[in-house]
Amino acid sequence: MAVHDSVHIEYDLPIWKEADVLVIGGGPAGIAAAVCAARHGAHVILCEQNGYLGGLPTGGLVGPFMTCYDPPMKRQVIQGFFEEFVQRMIKAGGAIHPSQMEAGSSYSAWRVRGHAHITPFDSEVFKSVAEEICSEAGVTLLFNMMFQRTITHDGQIDAAVFAAKGGPRAIRAKVIIDCTGDADVAYEAGAPFEVGKNNNGQPQPASLFFLINGVDKEKLEAYRATCSDISEMWFMDKVREAREKGEFPIPREKVALYESLDGVWRVNMSRIDHYDYCNPEDLTHAQIEGRKQVHIIIDFLKKYIPGCANIRLLGSAPMLGVRESRRIVGDFVLTGAEMKLSTRHDDDIFLSGNRFDTHIGSKVVYESTRGDDPYGVPYRILLPQKISNLLVAGRCASGDQECLAAIRVIPPCFAMGQGAGTAAALCIRDNVTPAHVNTDELRTWLCQDGACLE
Ligand SMILES: Cc1cc2nc3c(=O)[nH]c(=O)nc-3n(C[C@H](O)[C@H](O)[C@H](O)COP(=O)(O)OP(=O)(O)OC[C@H]3O[C@@H](n4cnc5c(N)ncnc54)[C@H](O)[C@@H]3O)c2cc1C
Repeated sequence: MAVHDSVHIEYDLPIWKEADVLVIGGGPAGIAAAVCAARHGAHVILCEQNGYLGGLPTGGLVGPFMTCYDPPMKRQVIQGFFEEFVQRMIKAGGAIHPSQMEAGSSYSAWRVRGHAHITPFDSEVFKSVAEEICSEAGVTLLFNMMFQRTITHDGQIDAAVFAAKGGPRAIRAKVIIDCTGDADVAYEAGAPFEVGKNNNGQPQPASLFFLINGVDKEKLEAYRATCSDISEMWFMDKVREAREKGEFPIPREKVALYESLDGVWRVNMSRIDHYDYCNPEDLTHAQIEGRKQVHIIIDFLKKYIPGCANIRLLGSAPMLGVRESRRIVGDFVLTGAEMKLSTRHDDDIFLSGNRFDTHIGSKVVYESTRGDDPYGVPYRILLPQKISNLLVAGRCASGDQECLAAIRVIPPCFAMGQGAGTAAALCIRDNVTPAHVNTDELRTWLCQDGACLE
């Protein structure tokens, strides 16, 4: 960061609110963390910078939820709060249950590998269901609160300070759960972190999702049936043709149109690379670049892809789709190499069969577990170093790049949030720090709440 000069800021800020548990960031991990902590008796505040909940599945328009099944796609292993949330969305007319979704359909962009039992959903229904569940659990929601800094003494966060309308606000809590996706709280408090493969500072590229309607599905499917590779890369020939004419200057090798609900399709085809997603200048450039690409893609689809001539842009995502930024480095770092061997741990908080999708430049490298068993994800990956009253859940937990390439997707993030929130409630009940939670009891509570740990 270029520093041109400095100003001296010093003032007393009154504590505006207090809670047992303060969750920062209202994406899948934050929603699950807040609700699960509150259901187990904690007084919970959830602060979110946007004016709605959901994070990337709503603000980023990303979807469908990737699989919640084991590697052979036979058994649903992510259940608990995730399953409850899906059922609530189905009841509200805003999702299709993963058990009904086979791979290779328009809902999975006709992809097969790793794309069985996904969950198509409506982002607006997601927002409403999230608000209802939080309010029923007694979570205090505060929107338009952007976390800025921590006040930390002796390795313990005393208060978190937010930028808000009317000036900065300070909130004090016994336990804080960082669900910002970027580990903003852990970073600010001084916990060690990494970015990129082996901390090379190069995060995976971002994408800006957008929604369209007006797809003639019959025509599109008829065209797809004529393509030489009908599984993953089916309209790449057209992309190459357009690229040669200078009409598709986007560095992307995979193309994806996901059917969602009510004739709406999610498009995941943009590629925005070489930015620092925690820097406001870079984020601005990346978002502008993403929106330019949206229009290039729309023009391409209309001109080249049968069935897309009459598509209409319903909206581009307000939030950039950041796959990767900071990850904390806890005392324990879960690695992709270990997960591929389907290892289990005494403190596992959920099981997952999600494969490892690492985006590098224009390509994606896909890898799976060696065998059919799901891998276990231990509680320890939520514990940062140096800060005693902080948990970190979601796509910035303590794993290497490959680990997060698997568990950064939505169902595992819900499950991580459930683990973090339940652990925070145990901290409050037993007056202990997160590192001293009784993980046998944590697992018992998770199982009682529907999680699948065997
Ligand atoms: C391009 C792309 C495509 C993807 N496709 C899929 C897919 O098809 N299926 C799937 O299952 N997963 C997909 N994912 C992954 C998934 O969407 C995310 O990794 C997941 O949403 C992470 O959940 P989270 O709760 O950790 O973080 P997020 O969803 O990022 O939520 C973080 C929340 O914290 C808030 N926040 C951030 N900073 C602050 C702050 N300083 N103060 C206050 N609030 C803050 C944000 O506004 C946001 O609401 C995709 C991701 C990307 C980027």
